Amino acid sequence: MPAHFDLLIRHGTCVLPWGVEATDIGVRNGRIVALGVAPDATADRTIDAKGLHVLPGLIDPHVHLRDPGDKAVESIPTGTRAAVLGGLVAVFDMPNTSPSITAIDKVAWKQDYAERESWCDIGLYVGGTKTNIPELADLELGRGVCGIKIFAGSSTGDLLVEDDEHLEMVMRSGRRRIAYHSEDEYRLQDRKPMFKSGDPYRRHMEWRDVECAFLGTRRLMALARKTGRPAHILHVSTAEELDYLKDFRDVATCEVLVNHLTQVAPDCYDNLKGFGVMNPPIRGPEVQAACWRAINDGTVDTVGSDHAPHSREKKLLPWPDCPAGLTGVQTIVPVMLNHVNAGRLPLTRMVDLMCAGPARVYGVVGKGRLAAGYDADFTLVDMKRQRRIEESWIVSPCGWTPFAGMEITGWPVGVVVRGQQVMRDDEVLGAPAGKLVRFAR
Ligand SMILES: [Zn+2]
Repeated sequence: MPAHFDLLIRHGTCVLPWGVEATDIGVRNGRIVALGVAPDATADRTIDAKGLHVLPGLIDPHVHLRDPGDKAVESIPTGTRAAVLGGLVAVFDMPNTSPSITAIDKVAWKQDYAERESWCDIGLYVGGTKTNIPELADLELGRGVCGIKIFAGSSTGDLLVEDDEHLEMVMRSGRRRIAYHSEDEYRLQDRKPMFKSGDPYRRHMEWRDVECAFLGTRRLMALARKTGRPAHILHVSTAEELDYLKDFRDVATCEVLVNHLTQVAPDCYDNLKGFGVMNPPIRGPEVQAACWRAINDGTVDTVGSDHAPHSREKKLLPWPDCPAGLTGVQTIVPVMLNHVNAGRLPLTRMVDLMCAGPARVYGVVGKGRLAAGYDADFTLVDMKRQRRIEESWIVSPCGWTPFAGMEITGWPVGVVVRGQQVMRDDEVLGAPAGKLVRFAR
């Protein structure tokens, strides 16, 4: 009697943990149960992936869906819809919303809301503050919580833990890896008076200079080593930090953003004005080269979009009143596939950075590889598809992307989350059925 599956993915080129192979995948009850399936096997549903690459479901571990906040800019339903249209199966959402996610009642609200409204699976960061340190050890173990996020330098919102004394208290509060926005707040404030309203947008990278980031990371690494608490340095944006972090692999992992791999100063400020302003800033070509070296020598663990939308009106304000942060959740996969096609990294390395990497850093259970027992999460991509990124394609209500006009080769054409196809050829299918990602304790 031939085997029967809920779902079969036939004729795809699969990126497996041990390499790229043409094989068929069998799914039951939302999990992968077979790699390599007999020709006579049957299934309730079959996806023909001929000509396509089947990747483990890609994860963006760094998004700001601004919910609760301003729905005219972004929300969990709209941002996760953008995620699946862009080829993602899961996003990890930051806590600097309005109000922030820093207490048990807010976490409970978001757990419930996310499982009703999210199109993809979702992990939740909890914000650390100077006043919720005693609760962090419990909060980080909440359902769907990917970890504590600390803003050691100020960005959007009011979360900030800038001094060594409180940072050390945070590190001694629990056990899981903590994600840090690493910029030295004192240096940021010291330098602010050097600039005036209406200065060119490129001054953003002079204000938040290399030393702001590097000093922040040196301080965090000293405390992480002292306390033994694992750290994840988000959006590393300097050659100095990437070099320095090589000596802290025992306590620290790190992320690089697709923007720092793709956009470069001063062009981004001259061309995009406020729509090129983010924290930490996009810097010059030597930094971009250092980020690519670190991608390919193994220094970097994850790649994120730092999707952080603001309204057009606010982004049009003169510097420094225009808020920092760029949209990116819908474009990270096409832009990274384009880098693969341009020869900047192998497809297997991209998959490592967007699947196994987040799984390893955050302790994801059951996602991040094509293997029996894992969630049936797949990103189907057409490596040959050519397309231009158009602003009209963006579904985040803010309605803009800093990648508009970019010519891309390699495009996500299908997304399957736990055995259910949720995106096919630019169309979102079914109803929101995202679940909270499971994490190891
Ligand atoms: Zn961020």
